[in-house]
Amino acid sequence: MKKPELLGQDEAALAAWLAAQGEPRYRARQVLDWLRKGVLNPAAMTNLPKALRARLAEQFVCDPLVLEARECAADGVRKYRFRLASGARIETVLIPERERSTVCVSSQAGCVYACPFCHTGTLGFRGNLTAAEILAQIAAVQRDLARDPLPAPWRNEITHIVFMGMGEPLANLAHVLAAIRWLTAPWGLGISKRRITVSTVGLVPQLARLGDVGVNLAISLHAARDELRNELVPVNRSYPLARLRAALNAYPLAPKRHITLEYVLLAGINDRKADMEALVRFVRKGRERVNLIPFNPWPGASYAPTPLARAHEIAAWLVAQGVRATVRRPRGQDILAACGQLAAKEAA
Ligand code: SAH
Repeated sequence: MKKPELLGQDEAALAAWLAAQGEPRYRARQVLDWLRKGVLNPAAMTNLPKALRARLAEQFVCDPLVLEARECAADGVRKYRFRLASGARIETVLIPERERSTVCVSSQAGCVYACPFCHTGTLGFRGNLTAAEILAQIAAVQRDLARDPLPAPWRNEITHIVFMGMGEPLANLAHVLAAIRWLTAPWGLGISKRRITVSTVGLVPQLARLGDVGVNLAISLHAARDELRNELVPVNRSYPLARLRAALNAYPLAPKRHITLEYVLLAGINDRKADMEALVRFVRKGRERVNLIPFNPWPGASYAPTPLARAHEIAAWLVAQGVRATVRRPRGQDILAACGQLAAKEAA
């Protein structure tokens, strides 16, 4: 039988297991306190009796990830490569800022959706991550920050989580939802759902289920005409813009919240006047904002980025049309840690 995963267990299940071991009630809190700090190895849970640590290690999958490499960019960004039990590799990125620190997690090893400008898309699909494999990425970053804190002015406490690493989170929805449960639960990490963002190619049937959870939604739009989007986001052939539009209109939003439409700017491909006019027609101005992402190149990519100055001009033009638009600042480019550069190459 497959062992259950320790990380992501809910409080009641953990308490029941501990009670069955004859342990006092306060043990559940002790174990959860360790997990919340990112300590997954029972051997390091020093306030638990030795015998209990051994039982935890024996009965649960405690840390499903092996850290293989860590790189630090000049701008404070850190990229981590992990190996899963299956042998597949994934990458995780820490994006520090002064007032927040964001962890960008992977939800799958590889991806089936094959967007041609995305490095991960070139890898093919190697499998869904379990909830613990998603959460252990954050735990590993927490341990790394405890061991080797970022210098001032960066913030060392993780405040935001984005599902924008490798893979399509809505294609692994059950595990992503289980991970979000631990992230938001008071007995888990206790992060507000407003600080969690799920980014998707736009799997229409799954969008309704995500809507019930109340996390932030980002859609990889990249083109507002079907012909072009079929090419850039091939799943558009199954869920064309009209269906995506209907799903976005039906997506529940709390007051003052909005949906982000991500738009990677590819020079000469989707950044022309007519493309932007189509974008203005697509956006529902009160509910949706546009985040322009200058293309981050990767080895072998056949696209070029729209120059940053032009990206800012486009944003200003969109704003003049009444569309709220920003340009995403590229981070960690020097270590291939920026959007769409993750590919978890094995060590040479
Ligand atoms: N599969 C999900 C989440 C992962 S990608 C999705 O598609 O939304 C996170 C964002 O990075 C997406 O908007 C994706 O289109 C974008 N992206 C992919 N490759 C990129 C690249 N090379 N440069 C800039 N952004 C890229």
